[in-house]
Amino acid sequence: MNNVLDVDNLKAYYIVKTVRGATAAKVHAVDDVSLEIKSGEIIGIAGESGCGKSTLAKALYGWITPPLQIFGGSIFYNVGKEKIDILKADEKELRKIWWNIVSYIPQGSMDVLNPTMRIRDHFFNVIKSHTEDFVKEKAEALVIKHLDELGLPREVLTSFPHQLSGGMKQRVVIALATILGCNVIIADEPTTALDVMVQRGILQLLMDIQSKLNCSIILITHDMGVHAQITDRIAIMYAGKILELGPTDQIFEDPQQPYTKFLISSLPRIGDKSKKTSIGGRPPSLVRPPKGCRFHPRCPLAIDICKEIEPPLIKVNEEHYASCHLLR
Ligand code: SF4
Repeated sequence: MNNVLDVDNLKAYYIVKTVRGATAAKVHAVDDVSLEIKSGEIIGIAGESGCGKSTLAKALYGWITPPLQIFGGSIFYNVGKEKIDILKADEKELRKIWWNIVSYIPQGSMDVLNPTMRIRDHFFNVIKSHTEDFVKEKAEALVIKHLDELGLPREVLTSFPHQLSGGMKQRVVIALATILGCNVIIADEPTTALDVMVQRGILQLLMDIQSKLNCSIILITHDMGVHAQITDRIAIMYAGKILELGPTDQIFEDPQQPYTKFLISSLPRIGDKSKKTSIGGRPPSLVRPPKGCRFHPRCPLAIDICKEIEPPLIKVNEEHYASCHLLR
């Protein structure tokens, strides 16, 4: 399978003022992350909130606005024979890349719909700003075909956002993000705040879109249960780093990294009445991340070397990588 996206040694930090406002501090939100996204796969990015998942999503979309800055590394989209360096794209190039090559469904995206505009006009605006020849009748036909294919009622087009349920608004946002048939969808917590039944419908919609467009989906969520349902591979992030990466079934059946083991063991299972233990402590400050393995202040298995030397990601199985000194 070819890679649609290659990320190498990416460093994306926030520059923030210190309390006194005098000096600037760096928040190492994404710190030396490398990742390949295969064409047509659904890859999950998992981890506690504040681990850098959403910052990684923004960087992959090329949405770098202050206080976020790139301090190193590269992100290339591979489309046909073209290799697109999204971190070097200017505003005009980004307008062509966004929605046509990569689409972003941001966190809390139900609230991005303009309350004063009917849904039809949201679709028209996207088509107008990201294509060169807008013809109203053609656009209308495209939108209706897309809604039909995704099983969404045409009636939503004449509705205002407040007339739709939370689940339907989320479906509309996903339909909007994919109206121009992109190669990669980045979905940041698309099921958060939805009840279980609606959540299932949204996940099914994402899977339908993936098979219709044959696109790749980068699914960002802290919910390991969601990852278990639809992803092919998972990357586990902690304090700005990827600690484990592998096929979803392997990650769940045979996790290698102590942090991944905690995430999985905290999931409720039918019939399992054993007491769940939570990970003690809190994620570290990303202004001054701990030396060595970033998980060491919370890891019950930490040994001396963990405090000094960062463990590299090593191959533990076919396509399965983990970083932990105990694996060597
Ligand atoms: Fe724990 Fe050390 Fe492994 Fe990090 S490297 S997860 S601190 S045992």
